[in-house]
Amino acid sequence: MKQWYYALALTAALGACQQKNEDKQQADSTAVAVAPPIDLSNFDTTVSPCEDFFQYVNGGWIKKNPIPETESRWGSFNEVYERNQKILKEIAEKAAEANAPKGSNEQLVGDFYASGMDSLTIEKAAPEWVQAELQAIEAATGKEELLQQWIEQKKNGSRAVLSLFVMPDEKNSEQYAIYIYQGGLGMPDRDYYLKEDEDKQKIREAYKAYLTKLFRLSGSDETAAKQAAETVFGIEKALAEASKSRVELRDPIANYNKMSVEEAEALAKPFSIKNALTLAGAAQAKEVIVGQPNFLKAVARLWQQTPVEDLKLYLKAHALNNGAPYWHHEFVQAHFEFYNKTLRGQKQNKERWKRVLATVDDGVGEALGQLYVQKAFPPEAKAKVMEMIDNLQYAYEQHIKDLDWMSEKTKEEALKKLAAFKRKIGYPDKWKDYSGLEIVRNNYWQNVKNAHRFEFERQVKRLGQPVDKTEWFMTPPTVNAYYNPPMNEIVFPAGILQPPFFDPNADDAVNYGGMGAVIGHELSHGFDDQGRQYDAEGNLRDWWMPEDAERFKERAQALSAQFSSYEVLPGVKVNGDLTLGENIADLGGLAIAYTALQKALEGKERPLIDGFTPEQRFFISWAQVWRTNAREEYLKQQVLVDPHSPARFRVNGPLSNLPEFHEAFGCKEGDKMYRKPEERVKIW
Ligand SMILES: [Zn+2]
Repeated sequence: MKQWYYALALTAALGACQQKNEDKQQADSTAVAVAPPIDLSNFDTTVSPCEDFFQYVNGGWIKKNPIPETESRWGSFNEVYERNQKILKEIAEKAAEANAPKGSNEQLVGDFYASGMDSLTIEKAAPEWVQAELQAIEAATGKEELLQQWIEQKKNGSRAVLSLFVMPDEKNSEQYAIYIYQGGLGMPDRDYYLKEDEDKQKIREAYKAYLTKLFRLSGSDETAAKQAAETVFGIEKALAEASKSRVELRDPIANYNKMSVEEAEALAKPFSIKNALTLAGAAQAKEVIVGQPNFLKAVARLWQQTPVEDLKLYLKAHALNNGAPYWHHEFVQAHFEFYNKTLRGQKQNKERWKRVLATVDDGVGEALGQLYVQKAFPPEAKAKVMEMIDNLQYAYEQHIKDLDWMSEKTKEEALKKLAAFKRKIGYPDKWKDYSGLEIVRNNYWQNVKNAHRFEFERQVKRLGQPVDKTEWFMTPPTVNAYYNPPMNEIVFPAGILQPPFFDPNADDAVNYGGMGAVIGHELSHGFDDQGRQYDAEGNLRDWWMPEDAERFKERAQALSAQFSSYEVLPGVKVNGDLTLGENIADLGGLAIAYTALQKALEGKERPLIDGFTPEQRFFISWAQVWRTNAREEYLKQQVLVDPHSPARFRVNGPLSNLPEFHEAFGCKEGDKMYRKPEERVKIW
């Protein structure tokens, strides 16, 4: 699936990440009320701030906060998420008891939640659910009927073959378009299929064992299940070979290939795009945007050369994988063992209520979100964040005007884009309308499927209509933020407007180093190596003078090289090209937020707090946002799939480029974080 917006952090990896230990939960909730915005006991003062700032600020916290068994990483995002989960649990439990009218937010949330918590019914009914999925695929008599089954599975949320979605046309951002994108893999990246190192080989074996298990659990004998797993793996490997790398996918122009449906049909023959669109409810589409034409050709070859029986196995494997987390315990466990344990190092599965809440958030997140903001979102927070955005935007304007590497002509366009940024804070002005979505109390799997199908159909129905600019891509309780290029907007869900990101009672330095830098980060996405290719209206259009683009690329290249030199684990390095956009956003965000802080402090007294200047507290605040413990497996997956650098480098990387940081802490030549002025990267 295409990355539609650029987020602050990867929530997919956060998943439903929680903490099991009841005592810890208590400690967390009381700690929040009284915790000072900067807690000195979290520091490791045996390390100099100029050697390793991440360790200096977070070393004490890291020691005190081992990763819970149910997590693959643990950090401030998780802590806030945990807080939100407790609120959401109360909301969902109350809704489940409310006997609310059909179609109301309480009914959708309450019945969905209750259906997921009813493990007895699930254990009893799931074997039939599984067989129903398989029989539908088995009954297909030829490839045409298989295509129909593929679309049915797609509507249920399956990732088989390729990805199909309706989003704004990137070259005409007022209109929706239908996109066809590479996909079809069961593992999170093509590298897992193609790389020869020992680690990947082990993961491949574990994946085949997982596929075998899925077939065993659904009734195949051991030999047949093993063969089926090999067949499925072979098909996926062929798709992996035809896939672009994540770095190649970051080029928005190369991955935008608009063509008529007839042209796409010819490209994919005998895999019929026309029939697929009709089955998907998009018969009216005249054009499609094909992300990767070569991948589509590979699908065509595969569809032609693979026997019907083998394609059935492939679709079945994806159907089983898609349903596994919602079925009876053996399926749940098998899915957990591969995706969470093998790939991310998580020791134990999360408690049921946390997994179910994540599913409810995924399925009816704006119904749940409405109940959440009524309870947990203070309007004062919104006003304060609005004011901070004003100040950040003003500071950005000054930075653009002062740039020594950009011509006046490009500056003019950049300023135009900056002024056109839209902002969304807390929750949507217009909530998603769930009318027609059927959620029942006694069938969890049906609810999961209904929610997926509702979303699929909601997207397809808007083809040909003007873009709904009020739409949100994250739900209100989400602890994250994003920039969305086609809408040129920055978005901050209610969930992130809490400590350590934002604290209405903290001093400016702390809020600008946290939320301010987060706002700066999102604004900077509009000017990172991808975002800069979209104009003020959100269209892919080159508004750069060629020399300015060249100078931007030189700077970006230097930043990429800097991050590629960071070693995460022995022999495992950050991918500077994959993380470039996020690293530009962090660097730009901090520089802008620092300027905005100076402006906010003008004419005010500047007392030392805990012995720190406001400047020092600004950088400390940023560092504590990123306090994290992560398992080795998690880190290995992160460098492969996540466009965000691991937490330590999101702190030490950008700060080592900022003269203001070296000045604040007196860092000198010879200190590990010190970079000579001529080596420092400055973009915005
Ligand atoms: Zn980001």
